Amino acid sequence: MNLKKPCVLTVAALLLAVAFPASPGPAPALIGPGETPRLILLVVVDQMRYDYLPRFAHVFTGGFRRLMLDGAVFTNAHLDHYPTVTAVGHAAMLTGAPPSISGIIGNDWYDRTLKRNVTSIEDPGTRLLGAGDAPGCSPHRLRVSTVGDELKMAHPGSRVIGISHKDRAAILMAGRMADLALWWDGQSGAFVSSTWYAPKLPEWATAFNAGRPADAWLGREWRALGEGGALLGRMPDTPGPAYYNSLYNSAFGNELLVSLAEVALEGERLGTREATDILALSFSCNDAVGHHSGPHSAEVRDITLRTDLALDRLLATIDRRVGLSRTVVIVTADHGVAPVPEQMTAWRMPAGALSRADLERAATDALEEAFGPGAWLEGRAGSALYLDRALMAKRGLDPTVVERRAASGVEALAPVWRTYTRSQLLEGRVPPDPWSRRVLVSFHRERSGDVEVLLQPYWMSAPTGTTHGTAYSYDTHIPLILMGPGIRPGRFDRTVVLNDVAPTLATILGVETPSGSSGHVLVDILEPPAPPSPTGRDGGALSPVPRGGF
Ligand SMILES: [Zn+2]
Repeated sequence: MNLKKPCVLTVAALLLAVAFPASPGPAPALIGPGETPRLILLVVVDQMRYDYLPRFAHVFTGGFRRLMLDGAVFTNAHLDHYPTVTAVGHAAMLTGAPPSISGIIGNDWYDRTLKRNVTSIEDPGTRLLGAGDAPGCSPHRLRVSTVGDELKMAHPGSRVIGISHKDRAAILMAGRMADLALWWDGQSGAFVSSTWYAPKLPEWATAFNAGRPADAWLGREWRALGEGGALLGRMPDTPGPAYYNSLYNSAFGNELLVSLAEVALEGERLGTREATDILALSFSCNDAVGHHSGPHSAEVRDITLRTDLALDRLLATIDRRVGLSRTVVIVTADHGVAPVPEQMTAWRMPAGALSRADLERAATDALEEAFGPGAWLEGRAGSALYLDRALMAKRGLDPTVVERRAASGVEALAPVWRTYTRSQLLEGRVPPDPWSRRVLVSFHRERSGDVEVLLQPYWMSAPTGTTHGTAYSYDTHIPLILMGPGIRPGRFDRTVVLNDVAPTLATILGVETPSGSSGHVLVDILEPPAPPSPTGRDGGALSPVPRGGF
């Protein structure tokens, strides 16, 4: 907590001390009162902690700097769900919905009907487009609307597109009615989609893939910006899965994504028609680099600085094509990350790793001791254990008692902080604290497990590197900046949640609030409507046209 103050002061100092960067071209005309923006640009950095903004503020020169100066900067935005992983974060972005209603409870979960784990977006009813014939992906497991869906229901001419390296990120941001989601295929180096959206890829995407843009970094060294240009990685010389994997684990992959976004802007003429369009973009390479190296590494510093530059390039393109004065830009993240346990130990902080196998053995041992031998554990996903209900029924056992026994077995392990059982969550019997709240609003009757296990702060089950997923601040505290017409710039220190973004955008666009939204409109950043003209024909009694084009 003590760390927070100096960080915040750094932001304040930057906001006050640094002049606005030079505009790259003539400024487009300002948006008129009552008009809605032409483009909503959502930029997500997959794995970015809030503290990266104040930590690197003095070295940002690009998009982050511009947003920190000109946007509404929330210094205390948190995720309000659990687990804090990619699919859940991206599902919350534009739905404002917690997992209990969105149905997206993890990157994957155990499906009791199929008797196997399913990912949040796998869909055998679709086919992949752009990289050979294979089962595709879709948002069919998402049970609520996004801002994009609401926009398209109100204005069928609107275009909604999601782009990311990760399928789940592109698909879940965009929503069920999206025109297109594109994600990266690490085997072929091409961007792909599925038949959920269209029978074939749009021509601009096919042409982009045909140019083999991913191969532009063959044999390249990844050297740190500044700081003596330390060597951080070297890309293989030949195209193929090993090279694409290296690209994905470097800062270069984000540049590739910006190139695709630029082609999409042009190909779809985004932001150039009467209706508002949405382009949602998620940079996944930051997550790959962060898992490997941790938040305090030279690699994470460098990819964050290069994301700042990539964002700058994207904003410049949008300024030329659409006009930033007609674009609402939102920059945020799907989750943070824990420091690497070895680093924490060196700092004399409590941290460590508990293997999944040890966790499951503790549950199984407790159940076998109490109820006899058996394959008690039917499934597992994330930090959840799924117990065999058929076995319980066969032995005439009360599921409430069996869940509690498994939970007690797990709680005996020192790294375990707390457990929640299915019965407990269904009845809402949880301690009144923020961690319980995050678990509670994320419990899905049909899809969630029987025992949720929370480890002590800084403990994890990752075998190497570091990870995220907990309900603690280092995973939940994310950047949140909104910039654009009708948004009041400044620093906002009150605590807000990611779920607030969707209803705020719905208000700006004048469309219905997404169906599962639990967020609150960020009213303090919305510019008030223009005052009524005192010389109006009816003597000033005319109401100003409200935002959202009523
Ligand atoms: Zn991750």
